[in-house]
Amino acid sequence: MSDYNPYLTVLATIEKAGKLLGYDPSKYEVLKHPERELRGGIPIRMDDGSVRVFAGYRVQHSTVRGPAKGGIRFHPDVNDDEVRALSAWMTFKCAVVGIPYGGGKGGVVVDPYSLSRDELQRLARGYTTMTYPIIGPETDIPAPDVGTNAEVMGWIVDQYSVLRGHFAPGVVTGKPLGLGGSKGRTEATGRGIMTAAVNTAKALGKDLSGMTVAVQGMGNVGSISALLLAEKGAKILAVSDVSCAIYNAAGLDVRAIADFLATRGALLKDYKGDHQIITNEELLSADVDILVPAALENQINAGNADKIRAKIILEGANGPTTIEADAVLEQKGVIVVPDILANAGGVVVSYFEWVQNLQNFYWDEAEVNTRLQDILDDAFRSVWNIAQENKVDLRTGAYLIAVKRLVETMELRGL
Ligand code: NAD
Repeated sequence: MSDYNPYLTVLATIEKAGKLLGYDPSKYEVLKHPERELRGGIPIRMDDGSVRVFAGYRVQHSTVRGPAKGGIRFHPDVNDDEVRALSAWMTFKCAVVGIPYGGGKGGVVVDPYSLSRDELQRLARGYTTMTYPIIGPETDIPAPDVGTNAEVMGWIVDQYSVLRGHFAPGVVTGKPLGLGGSKGRTEATGRGIMTAAVNTAKALGKDLSGMTVAVQGMGNVGSISALLLAEKGAKILAVSDVSCAIYNAAGLDVRAIADFLATRGALLKDYKGDHQIITNEELLSADVDILVPAALENQINAGNADKIRAKIILEGANGPTTIEADAVLEQKGVIVVPDILANAGGVVVSYFEWVQNLQNFYWDEAEVNTRLQDILDDAFRSVWNIAQENKVDLRTGAYLIAVKRLVETMELRGL
């Protein structure tokens, strides 16, 4: 299903929410079109002296409610429709949690693990130079996504600041703490997943403690989600990365696995522990209470949705479920907490980071986490209630809130 176009999912979801809201299509048509797209070649001098040119993208889907906001992905499968879809999801995510941002996303077609650290730094700087005309603390604020991290954000801050002529840490979020990063940002998306799990269990009258979990993609989002869910007493039976998936019916030692994977380039297939190797499809259809897809889009699709045995899906990744799969899951009674709600913790703390940069006034971690929890609890309650009132799934509920907020803002602006 990797040839499935995620932008089609975006268009269908907007249409469904707009119709349910009873809007004339002219009110939400603009949300189907990104405001601005930039594409370019990024020339990099490789360590052996040769030059390679990498394709780079930045899409600003909407700046209606504030500056564009969204990560930068370094991955070989990056393409224009993927970046478009990811940027649109950011618009709806920021609207559903009520933070003053629009949506953007960027990417480079590259396997970052095939580059040396120096080459990676040159690529990050090249990407910054390419996007310099359109990014900035007031216009478009990137962050980490698949294949990028705090270190890459640090290089972007430096390159942007050099071009700008003054130190400008607010140009990106997800930075190292010493460069104006926020406490709690690295853990924020996983913390949001854990919060979504707690809220879902509570809404269903169940206890998270003792629930079993499978996590696809032990990167930033997946590993922190697994660790925090385990802290809440859930049992992690299966995890995966790009190299393999592993399973233990008695539960995996997620702390040991996360520590092992923390080294750049480390792969799960080389981890020695008490487990059996399973396939990616076996992980997705594992007999668990909670499935956390935290890798890439389109993982739960028409080809495998009927095999899913989890009762709750918490979407750590953006767009892991196709629209066809959604329909199958709804019929099976699976509760899907959608990406734009479940993984919003990252962008909420990115917002806190940006606010701290603008004010040059920094908060302690407890304050970050308390404010994060308040926003996510509030958003969950609103989405759960609107979904119940309208007898729709949580994804549709989340889009009803987001599309309404966007349309209302456009009306206030006279657009
Ligand atoms: P990451 O690069 O840290 O981790 C990605 C993980 O997915 C890695 O473990 C990688 O090995 C694995 N992976 C890649 N291809 C895979 C495949 N085909 N099958 C199984 N596993 C595969 O990235 P991340 O920041 O954790 O992002 C993961 C997802 O979460 C993405 O969809 C991203 O857009 C989304 N997300 C990230 C954040 C954030 O704050 N980092 C916030 C919201 C959403």
